Amino acid sequence: MATLKAVRGTRDLLPPETALWNRIEATARAVFARYNFGEIRTPVFEDTSLFSRSVGEETDIVSKEMYTWEDRARAQSEKPQSLTLRPENTAGVVRAYIEHKLGETGQLQKLYYIGPQFRRERPQKGRYRQFSQIGAEVIGPPHAGSESPLRDAEILEMLATLLDELGITGWTLELNSVGSAADRARYNETLRQALIPLAPKMCEDCQRRAVTNPLRVLDCKVPEDQPIIETLPKIVDSLDDESKSHFAAVTVALDASGVPYTRNHRLVRGLDYYTRTTFEFTHGGLGAQNALLGGGRYDGLSEAIGGPKAPGIGFAMGEDRLVLTLQALEAAKPEKADAYIAPLGETVNAAALALARELRRSGLTIELGDGSFRLKKSFDAADRTARRIIIMGEDEVASGILTVKDFSTGIQTKVPRAELAGVLKAPSDQ
Ligand code: AMP
Repeated sequence: MATLKAVRGTRDLLPPETALWNRIEATARAVFARYNFGEIRTPVFEDTSLFSRSVGEETDIVSKEMYTWEDRARAQSEKPQSLTLRPENTAGVVRAYIEHKLGETGQLQKLYYIGPQFRRERPQKGRYRQFSQIGAEVIGPPHAGSESPLRDAEILEMLATLLDELGITGWTLELNSVGSAADRARYNETLRQALIPLAPKMCEDCQRRAVTNPLRVLDCKVPEDQPIIETLPKIVDSLDDESKSHFAAVTVALDASGVPYTRNHRLVRGLDYYTRTTFEFTHGGLGAQNALLGGGRYDGLSEAIGGPKAPGIGFAMGEDRLVLTLQALEAAKPEKADAYIAPLGETVNAAALALARELRRSGLTIELGDGSFRLKKSFDAADRTARRIIIMGEDEVASGILTVKDFSTGIQTKVPRAELAGVLKAPSDQ
């Protein structure tokens, strides 16, 4: 029988890498709390129409990457419901905002989420079919200040802080404005005209997009199409005064807080719901899939899925890519246990468990060996998993004095049991 494996594009996360995932999530939660965000958890699957109406029929995500199935009808008269594993989380958050009438509080809602998303993309390094996003949204009625450019700048400043606290250095923030829905419609028309003579020389996808949704041509990654795309009109020339001054206010606030950015005229993002500010943080250490996170404003999204006017702005970070970046920066050495207890002989096993319990309850991470191991085997196991070894024979049990060897210094010392936790808590070099 063929052995079963994780499905293509999915993977198991194992220790010690999972410790890095946990650290990233703990840091994100702590930073979000300081900016007064609360956590939201939405279902992993939703009605398919939520995504076609928000992300957009013409996007790659909706047109070819969703995991969709027909759920059996409960009664014969009922039509089966089309369900989809969420490919992103903003649509679900806005659906929940509408469903729970969060706009009626009159307050800005500041919500963050951490969880798996699903897209049937071609798997490669940094691109998976199940991946995890850490994201946040600021959404509310206009009178709560949800349209203010200060919200955009604050989110970007929070992201710069979060990346710094994660230890991710060397990121680049790219910024653009895609304008209001009217600006985008105008720009789409300008592009459509400009593409008439050019599209026949471009890839098949672009030929289709040139007719159905010309803005998406700017997302094209085919190398031969790039010089053509560079000649296309820029969206900045289609923005109205309000969109221009909104964008200017975002950049003034960013400049004041010292967050560096560059303007990227082609940054229109792969989802249809974006309006005005769009942004991406990239990192050179990631290779082809270099986007750490992306986001932007979505002032018409709530109305597009049947809700009240609720402008908002948000982002999603690829957690898998944060992990890859930290590994590439070598800021992610696996943590070793504080000590390994090596009982010398099976008669000491019980006493060793009691000592392990005492040390673990004082907050230390302890590996417990086994009395059937020869001393060399204990040393080998200890060296792989812990920073020190504690040798515990019958003499040590009787005298209450233990032998501790620190692997980083090679120094061996005798430590009275009462002082052991204090000695182990002192920093070691490894
Ligand atoms: P998006 O929802 O497409 O704006 O993506 C936001 C971020 O999620 C990207 O910048 C990536 O870091 C991450 N991401 C998107 N798709 C994938 C994927 N298939 N595998 C891993 N990370 C992804």
